[in-house]
Amino acid sequence: MDVKHSLPTLDENFASQLEPLAPAPALDLILAASRGAAACLTSSFQVEDMVVTHLLKNRLPDIPVLFLETGYHFAQTYEYRDQMAKLWSLNLVNVLPAQSVAQQESAFGILYRSEPTRCCQLRKVEPLMGALEPFDVWFTGLRREQSPTRKNLKTIELHRLPSGKILWKVSLLADWNFAQVWQYANENGIPALPQYAEGYLSIGCEPCTALPSDPNNPRSGRWGGEKLECGIHTFSTRGAQ
Ligand code: SF4
Repeated sequence: MDVKHSLPTLDENFASQLEPLAPAPALDLILAASRGAAACLTSSFQVEDMVVTHLLKNRLPDIPVLFLETGYHFAQTYEYRDQMAKLWSLNLVNVLPAQSVAQQESAFGILYRSEPTRCCQLRKVEPLMGALEPFDVWFTGLRREQSPTRKNLKTIELHRLPSGKILWKVSLLADWNFAQVWQYANENGIPALPQYAEGYLSIGCEPCTALPSDPNNPRSGRWGGEKLECGIHTFSTRGAQ
């Protein structure tokens, strides 16, 4: 029987001890400390997520890889997702919104043009909130460098879901820069989403992703530069145990 353990209290000294560590030793300490609590990874199949998946898959081969299936991704993203899921035998979980794209567009029109925050809420945030409920540890590929909204990100934080449940949110690449991510990917032979070769630096849903207007700001191509986050990393609050 697959017995899951409850999450131990997160000790502040332990959290601080992780900050200077490289991703692999930090991960080993976190897995030991979480003592078999249910873990998952969210992945958009961008290069950061593939590095985190690579780190995790040899330690937790069956870890659920949650992909927010908005219905609006690039065809190349779906193709790459399926290729990598097969190549790495991933436990891929497509997290679906309540409505199909056709149902939503019929009911509300093209929300990614008129109300992108509502579109992200319906197609990303709400589905993810439900999908995270069974888990205690949530791995992400977030990095501090990606956005001003992520500048205070820690390797491990407590996150409270709207239900009140507290998770460990773990960002193993928090202090890595983009070059370090690519170096790891190249050294480990990790294939990349084909859109990177076309000049994209941050890749999400196709209607809301363009080539970056500022080469020093990879996320300047997202939402026409009008919006920094879809909301999946801001819907919950930092929690306390
Ligand atoms: S990124 Fe764009 S298409 Fe995707 S859910 Fe958000 S608004 Fe909708």
